[in-house]
Amino acid sequence: MKIICIGRNYSEHAKELGNAIPDEPVIFMKPKNALVIPGMNFYYPPFTNELHYEGELVFKICKNGKHISRKYAWQYYNEVTIGIDFTARDLQTELKKKGLPWEKSKAFDQSAVVGDFMRLDDLTDKENISFQLTKNGIAVQDGQSENMLFNIDSILEDASQYFTLNIGDLIFTGTPAGVGEAITGDVFEGFIENRKVMEMVVK
Ligand code: ZN
Repeated sequence: MKIICIGRNYSEHAKELGNAIPDEPVIFMKPKNALVIPGMNFYYPPFTNELHYEGELVFKICKNGKHISRKYAWQYYNEVTIGIDFTARDLQTELKKKGLPWEKSKAFDQSAVVGDFMRLDDLTDKENISFQLTKNGIAVQDGQSENMLFNIDSILEDASQYFTLNIGDLIFTGTPAGVGEAITGDVFEGFIENRKVMEMVVK
């Protein structure tokens, strides 16, 4: 499996990091070893002093496909959860300054935490999914999927022109505003429509 991630997919977040609003999806990937599923431990990585959390909706691919059109994209996913796209922000800033790829700061081991998946059919409003990330019990990010610059269907249309999508692949759809630092001992919880789907501790 692979993990496809979208950057700068909410205009308020692009602004908070001083990035331009993209005119096509910004895509990067994380390898399988980046994945942290419920029950696995997460450890603060030793190569950063500025670990950032980015709470995001994560969709799971349920059908293989390439050159998927937006119109039929809904057939390719049926589950969603909250994930954290952990980012070594200090390292990323350095790499961006040098015009180098982001991988070391974005795709390292354990950088893709996910919660328990729920079926889209169990949501009240799958066209506009509301989600929240809390840190130590305090809400730090609130998102609505309708505020994405590129919705999941257009992400799949664009990404599948380049990458064949396979059953089990995960799509991290980008973070709303409110990203910030994570330190050892922090507890993060993720909610979809007020239902808790994720809990993790930074060890
Ligand atoms: Zn992200």
